[in-house]
Amino acid sequence: MPPQRGPRPRGRRPQRAPQPIPEAAPAVAVAEPTTSVVTLPKTIQVGDLARALDASVVDVIRGLVNIGLMVSINETVDFETASLVANELGIETRPEEEAVPVADEEALTPEAIGGKEILWEDVDPAKLKERPPVVTVLGHVDHGKTSLLDAIRSTNVTSREAGGITQHIGAYQIEHNGRKVTFLDTPGHEAFTAMRARGAQVTDVAVLVVAADDGVQPQTIEAISHAKAAKVPIVVALNKMDRPDANPDQVKAQLAEHGVTIEDYGGDTPLVPVSAKTKEGIADLVEVVLLVADVNDLKADPDRPAIGRVIEAHLDKGRGPVATILVQTGTLERGDLVVAGTTFGKVRAMVDDKGKNIGRAEPSRPVEILGLPEVPEAGDVIRAVADEKAARALAAQNARERAASTAAEKPATLDEMFAQVKEGKAKELKIVLKADVQGSLEAIKTALGKIPQNEVTLAVIHDAVGDITESDLTLAAASGAVVVGFNTKMEAPARRVADSTKVDVRLYKVIYELLDDVQKALTGMLEPEMVESTLGHAEVLQLFTAGKTTIAGSRVVDGLVRRGAQARVLRGGTAVYDGKIGTLRRMKDDVREVTTGLECGIVLENSNDVQVADIIECYVVQPKPR
Ligand code: GDP
Repeated sequence: MPPQRGPRPRGRRPQRAPQPIPEAAPAVAVAEPTTSVVTLPKTIQVGDLARALDASVVDVIRGLVNIGLMVSINETVDFETASLVANELGIETRPEEEAVPVADEEALTPEAIGGKEILWEDVDPAKLKERPPVVTVLGHVDHGKTSLLDAIRSTNVTSREAGGITQHIGAYQIEHNGRKVTFLDTPGHEAFTAMRARGAQVTDVAVLVVAADDGVQPQTIEAISHAKAAKVPIVVALNKMDRPDANPDQVKAQLAEHGVTIEDYGGDTPLVPVSAKTKEGIADLVEVVLLVADVNDLKADPDRPAIGRVIEAHLDKGRGPVATILVQTGTLERGDLVVAGTTFGKVRAMVDDKGKNIGRAEPSRPVEILGLPEVPEAGDVIRAVADEKAARALAAQNARERAASTAAEKPATLDEMFAQVKEGKAKELKIVLKADVQGSLEAIKTALGKIPQNEVTLAVIHDAVGDITESDLTLAAASGAVVVGFNTKMEAPARRVADSTKVDVRLYKVIYELLDDVQKALTGMLEPEMVESTLGHAEVLQLFTAGKTTIAGSRVVDGLVRRGAQARVLRGGTAVYDGKIGTLRRMKDDVREVTTGLECGIVLENSNDVQVADIIECYVVQPKPR
């Protein structure tokens, strides 16, 4: 057993004399002035790599292109790749593991950051006390999520508070029969899952709002999948019961079809008929939420330094950085020194959801805090620490972890599953499945169910008809799932999420190929996915003929052009040829490559169809790097 600390001696914390504190370690890499060796982490963003090497981003990207990788400034490369580029620039590298520990690291002893019990694992069960549940409201658009949040809030303001101004700070707390419940004020599964993707699971109960006159709709199904993937218990709020066309029985049956079996139907999901308009059933809903919370035995230790999560944060013109935080365990006090992500400062003031200045915030209590020098990110962990040295060290560690985790925590791809299955590591392949029509969706699900599953099991965590949406991507990112589409497209916002999260999205037009890939991933036999990377572009300036051959006199406008590489001819935005670069000449000589700014003669393999002002795009197709 670790030594236990009693309640923190409030107000008598030993004050340290201000002392010079060594600069916190840079987040990413340390270029050492004494030698030309640069220490690099396991993975690094291209932009950070350029900074670490003291080179221009263009040079680094060019170096990457030279080794056949087409990546952008925000993408991440591994140590080996970064080293190759560094070596090309005449810089030696070594992996971060061998780096000399930074002096400040010793400040991270458990005592320094507030006692050993700061770790969740070291919680003393005897000190745990009941805490209010934290609730998120999910459901289809226009089914009444916002109205319900407003109704719950207004039904539960005491007369004393009623005159006060309610503040929308991202979350609020109500009291019902002497018990508190916290509601997150940003409804919808997008926000819910975005937080989860950052490792911040703050929700204890999901209230699924379904309009009784409209029934289960696409976002209802999404919300169900998101709540289930997060393993959060669901309470159904059957809203708009005041409407004459409310049809509860139909909704109950629809819910059962989508895996939510309510208590009436022999399941374990409670359903409460409500009307956000007439306030009918609101008290019952809160009552049921509390019952579900009781079953889940929600506890925290209020007598310890606070740990919580940043719910939202912004820069206020007058007040500076403002962060709404949810205390998860411990008690936060005005004057506490806190670290939130990579920033730290003293809590100068705390304001609750009623606009009241408060001095203490207990577990599950949402508060706005002032005093941080920078705006932290939603989802950041916030914790109270003993002194400035510990704060500095923890913030620096968070910065290092953030830099290193960019790629390390990226979700599974089919290729990685394959690798993990081979090593016997993978246990479950999670899939978000989208298809064009219900018929093919059902057919695929049935066929997937028939794939033999031995060591690795297959879990379709969400399936629906339609294009691949942003919500599908965030769900996959938060759950480590692969998105599989059959005869569907990816919406533009989804593509952006796919790019930034590196979620593996696989689109198929032939069911057999889809099933084959999944089966291979499950058995560790997947062929690596082939991806195209652009090497560069050349503009055709002039045409020459030699016998029957047309030579395109061109200038390389970016990247490079390589003999034997794939090439397509773009004319007015359309590709009129897709083949290979047959011959590549500079002056009279055959050459292998020609780089940006230089002129050359290009002969396409088996084609003379080239015109002045055409763009020749040169590319390679190679296995996707793991
Ligand atoms: P959200 O998109 O899920 O947040 O839905 P809103 O709360 O914005 O509500 C959508 C519409 O439904 C609004 O016009 C509300 O006034 C209406 N509405 C919400 N709850 C009820 C209800 O219980 N009864 C009726 N009749 N209308 C409601």
